[in-house]
Amino acid sequence: MSLLSKIWASDRKRIYIVAGVLLVILLILWQALTFWKVLDIQKQARDKNEALDQKISDIEIILLAAQESNTTLAEALAAAKEKTDSLSKEFKKVSGDVDDLEKITLTDPELLQKYSKVYFLNEHYVPSDLETIPGKYTTHPNKEYQIMSEVWPYLEDLLEDAKDDDVDLKIASAYRSFGEQASLKGAYSVTYGAGTANQFSADQGYSEHQLGTTVDFTNSIIGDTFTGFEKSSEYKWLQDNAHNYGFALSYPENNSYYQFEPWHWRFVGERLAKNLHKRGQYFYDLSQREIDEYILYLFD
Ligand SMILES: [Zn+2]
Repeated sequence: MSLLSKIWASDRKRIYIVAGVLLVILLILWQALTFWKVLDIQKQARDKNEALDQKISDIEIILLAAQESNTTLAEALAAAKEKTDSLSKEFKKVSGDVDDLEKITLTDPELLQKYSKVYFLNEHYVPSDLETIPGKYTTHPNKEYQIMSEVWPYLEDLLEDAKDDDVDLKIASAYRSFGEQASLKGAYSVTYGAGTANQFSADQGYSEHQLGTTVDFTNSIIGDTFTGFEKSSEYKWLQDNAHNYGFALSYPENNSYYQFEPWHWRFVGERLAKNLHKRGQYFYDLSQREIDEYILYLFD
């Protein structure tokens, strides 16, 4: 028997024990190693999670800040827009005011002036621009009747629409210069005596004719006499429609200013004429201050 065999034979049991112990130790070590590795992986995962959480929280902060500054930006934008809007409104208002001012400046204030026994139109006053009314609309086609150019389109519409309604309106008098009026009044004075002439051809009405915005209407039958015009269908038509063309009756029945002149109509602009008609009032019923507010709309 060899030496090895001898050792094997005598220590076999011990060798088994040692080997077994060694195996157990190895197993334990391996387990420990595995456990440590798992721990390490877990730790790494935790670290990663934490880092991720941190990143998320950083992003949240950034997002919040961005949102906040966005809100601020949006607010600033809204405020700026509001300011721009209000500025633009202001600008429009100012430019509107300038336009209105220009309109008022360019409109002759005499055109809406009340004339009375104490306030007359200046004898040198001449309308800015006159237009001849075509003969077919007048009582004397060969005679020249004139009207302020800016008023003519309104008067022409009135005359045409009256014709369409089978209403026989004619112009018996329109613009009259101071000189013409003076000679007319002189002629009346001679015929009727001064007292009657003052009432008949008088002072308020004369100023209105000198303005170039006023006409005396009649029909083909009555003509220049105006007799019974207040009972004519033409007068009825004027009462119902003239305001739509900017014309108002100056001296109605029982007015405190002057004798009743159903034929005498003055252009005061559509807005004023319509308001007067709606309220059942007349031009001379209003205060000058109230009338002046319509200067802006005279030719609207
Ligand atoms: Zn008249």
